[in-house]
Formats: sequence, structure tokens, C-alpha cells
Amino acid sequence: MNMMSTSLDIERIREQFPILHQEVNGKPLVYFDNAATTQKPTVVISALENYYKGINSNIHRGAHALADQATTAFEATRLSIKDFINAKEVEEVIFTKGTTDGINLIAATFGRAFIGEGDEIVVSTMEHHSNIVPWQMLCEEKGAQLKVIPLNAKGELLMEEYEALLSEKTKLVAVVHASNALGTVNPISEIISNAHAVGAKVLVDGAQSCSHLDIDVQALDVDFFVSSAHKIYGPTGMGFLYGKRQLLEEMPPYQGGGEMIKTVSFEGTTYNEIPYKFEAGTPNIADVIAFNEAIHWISQVGKEAIRAHENELLAYAHEKLSAIDGVIFYGEAEDKVAVVSFGIQGVHPFDIGMMLDARGIAVRTGHHCTQPLMQFFGIEGTVRASFSVYNTKEEIDKLAEGVAKIARMMA
Ligand code: PLP
Repeated sequence: MNMMSTSLDIERIREQFPILHQEVNGKPLVYFDNAATTQKPTVVISALENYYKGINSNIHRGAHALADQATTAFEATRLSIKDFINAKEVEEVIFTKGTTDGINLIAATFGRAFIGEGDEIVVSTMEHHSNIVPWQMLCEEKGAQLKVIPLNAKGELLMEEYEALLSEKTKLVAVVHASNALGTVNPISEIISNAHAVGAKVLVDGAQSCSHLDIDVQALDVDFFVSSAHKIYGPTGMGFLYGKRQLLEEMPPYQGGGEMIKTVSFEGTTYNEIPYKFEAGTPNIADVIAFNEAIHWISQVGKEAIRAHENELLAYAHEKLSAIDGVIFYGEAEDKVAVVSFGIQGVHPFDIGMMLDARGIAVRTGHHCTQPLMQFFGIEGTVRASFSVYNTKEEIDKLAEGVAKIARMMA
């Protein structure tokens, strides 16, 4: 864990997030639900307004100035994402509705075309439901098998067991980069090279990693990488899929409709080039354009500085919460993003969440869309506090005070 002291002026950063400056239940808001969605800086919010006030227009097809401006701004985001994840070519970036949509796209196209009876797909115990259910549906349709990488008690993947699952039957490994429920950062480089050694392709669910970690899809040699803008200070309903050119070209289209075609006739339709082949219909133009501002904002602040600050918060939260009698942690991996999952002996997570909410503290409680992971720990759910660049140690003090009071009251 990087314990470098942060160089960021957090108060200045907080000023850029209007939502943080309000009271909830009569108390200043403490927003610790960042793994569910991050808040948006003013530049992102303004970009949405500016788009609708100034250049609202449908893209790619118009022969007029506004359509040109909207198209240019829209495609500029694709270029920024390419740089953000270090893709080789801009055409390898497909706009989606988010991580879930990206995974479903791969299941419906790559999966349907290249996975058949007797083939195997490998996922891990800590996957979000959106990286389990599409594969279960595909396995059911195709007669393929889902294999699951087990964990140790700290919430880390058992890599030897993973290697033992791989064989020439494995067609795809689909794993999360950083766990939304535990914060565990998985050794994806190793996961990818092991999968490639048996000829399998790899999809990495980057929903939780992009806002904290540097992503280099070329260095990773990953085949598919998906994420959601709303977890990276951007708008909801928008995300991206990276895929290697050759794979994207070999895959059939996802949905049919406008934009994804070259020519249409009743005798037969020909499909557009990538990335448009996978982008049927009018996309979420405003949100795509606003996401570019989020990417610029992150680069201005600097991922390394963001990570250093978040790691400091993570260590501080761990120190404060572990001093409270009755607190149990779930997921204590060596390598983590800024997520603390915990419970209090004998208290239902939902009750903890309600009592913290009464203090203005927003955490998430429950299974975090990772029911198999909760089954592994033998629990119904956890309380999850997830930190972002605008959070402070003072806010963690408030969380610890609240948790200590609940633990005393309910013990
Ligand atoms: N995967 C992980 C690890 C997540 O944390 C989430 C959202 O919480 C998703 C997938 C699904 O993302 P979305 O709902 O934006 O499609």
C-alpha cells in the first residue's frame, strides 16, 4: 500500500463538488458510497448543461454546424478514453451504457460466436452479479460450463487453484480488477498471461479500478476491458468497452439499427466498421461529452496523488475502526483500493447503515451485488465505506464515532 503523504488541497477539490455542501438529516453530508457511484465535479455538470444549451444535435449524420460540433465533441471523448487506458487505436473503444452493458455485449457477441458446448468460462467468487449472470445465461444457452476461482479468508484469489482450472477447454476468463465489495485488487497481469497460455481470452471488469489505478490495456495485453463513467466522476448511463481490434472485427454485431450498418436492403445488410458496428441507435451523446471533462479532471488532479490520498484514508479508516470492539472486517487483502467492508458483531448491516444515515453518513449495506461472495463469508451482507479523493480524515472520525456508538448501544 502506498503510504505517501498526499499533496492535494482537499478543500479546493471539495469546492468543485457542489453536492458535498449540504446537510442530510440535519448533519453535514459524509459521502462514503463512492464504489456505488462517485460524485461529479462542476466541470462535468456544466458540460451537460452546455451541451443541451449550445450544441444539442444528433451526431455523425447531420450536415449542419451543430451536428458537426456535437460529433467532434463526442468523438473527442473516444480519443480521451483511448489515452486514459492506453489503447493502441481509437477504434478499439466502444461506447456502452456501462460495465454491465459492456459485459453483456461480449457475452452476446464474442460469447455466442466463439463459445460452444463443453467449453469453459472462468470467473471468480468475488465477481459482481453483472460478471456472473451474463455468463450463466450464455452457458445455459450453449451447454458451456462456468468455473469459479476460489478465495482465501483475506479475500484474495487462490492463484494456484486458478491455474488448475485452466485448460484447452477454457475460452474466456472474466475477472474483476478491483472488488467493489472488498476492495481487493486482483493480480490481473498474471491472470491474463496464464489464460493466454491456454489460448483463452480475458475480460477485465474495470468498474472499480479506473478511478484509482493506472490502466494500460496494451501492457496488460488484455482482450476486453469494461468500465462505467459514473464510477470515475462522470455521468450515469455511459461507459466503455475496450477490445483488441482483431477480436472486435471478428465478432458479430451486438444490436441492430442505425449507425451500425453500411448498407441496408431487403436482400441483405452490411455492417459498419468498428467501433460503429457495436453502437446501434442514437447514443447517450451529452453524457459521453461530459465524461471527457471527468477524464480531464482526473488527469489534472493526477491519479498518483488521488491514489496516495485514498490509501491514506484507507489506512486511517482501518486504524480507527479496528480500535472498536465488535467490528469485523471482510477482505483484508494486501493490495486494495479504498474500500472498507465491515460489520459489528450481532448487529444487522442494514441497521448500522440506517443509524449512520441519521448522522449524515452515506454508506452502502447489503450484499453489494456479490451474493456468492457473501455466501463464501457466510454472511448476509456488510457495511461498505468507500472513499474518494474528496473525502477527509475528519469524515472518517465521524464514521468511527458513529460505529463506536452503535457497537456500544447494540452490544
Ligand atoms: N462490476 C463491478 C465491480 C461494479 O462495482 C459494478 C457496479 O457497482 C458493476 C460491475 C456494474 O456497473 P454498472 O451498474 O455501472 O453497469
